[in-house]
Amino acid sequence: SSPVMTLDGPGGAGKGTLASALARELGWYLLDSGALYRLVGLTALRRGLDPAAETDRERGAEAARHLELYFEPDSGDGQRVHLAGEDVTEAIRSDLVSEAASQWAVQAAVRDALLQRQRAFAVPPGLIADGRDMGTVIFPEADLKLFVTASAAERAARRYAQLSELHADANLDRIYQEIVERDARDASRAVAPLKPAVDAHVIDTTGETVAASIERVRGLVRE
Ligand code: C5P
Repeated sequence: SSPVMTLDGPGGAGKGTLASALARELGWYLLDSGALYRLVGLTALRRGLDPAAETDRERGAEAARHLELYFEPDSGDGQRVHLAGEDVTEAIRSDLVSEAASQWAVQAAVRDALLQRQRAFAVPPGLIADGRDMGTVIFPEADLKLFVTASAAERAARRYAQLSELHADANLDRIYQEIVERDARDASRAVAPLKPAVDAHVIDTTGETVAASIERVRGLVRE
């Protein structure tokens, strides 16, 4: 079978940046599994489905089973996300979709629906899988597992810096509170709670530049 490297960890820890840099360096495919949950969230919002409503849950899982998705490499390190032929790269990053994605991600039927889809990305020459449960659930046999983290204060500061570029009214205290709440929710949810795989290397990027983190991971890849 084809080699797989997994990167799991909380939002804002620098996982995505690391994952795309590694994929480019190694010439491997990249799975942004969060994008799949975001596509489910977007589809559910458009269809008016409510994850809290019993009758809508099966429709959400049905949508997850039939996602017509396509990742297209962009000119840099990233990729554009297409849903049934529509470019939704920006649309899936909205606050509304982020919230919907996180609500649908706790549904076991949705996670089951996406399981084989995700495994199908493991093709030669190799795959970098970025998410929350890549090393624990989706690719338990991965060749190298990383758990990328950073302090809540550091992740809040990075998010604040990003948002301040977009609009002037970003609020650091509120961002910090949201991060602490989301961490608690991710760690305590019944389905696929966020935790390092027992055989994962924990990479704490607090106070570290992206270049320094990449260099550290290169060391692990060489081992
Ligand atoms: O990483 P990203 O913010 O794009 O993930 C979107 C949502 O999907 C998050 O709420 C996250 O908890 C969820 N997710 C998940 N399992 C993954 C990837 C993302 O539950 N493997």
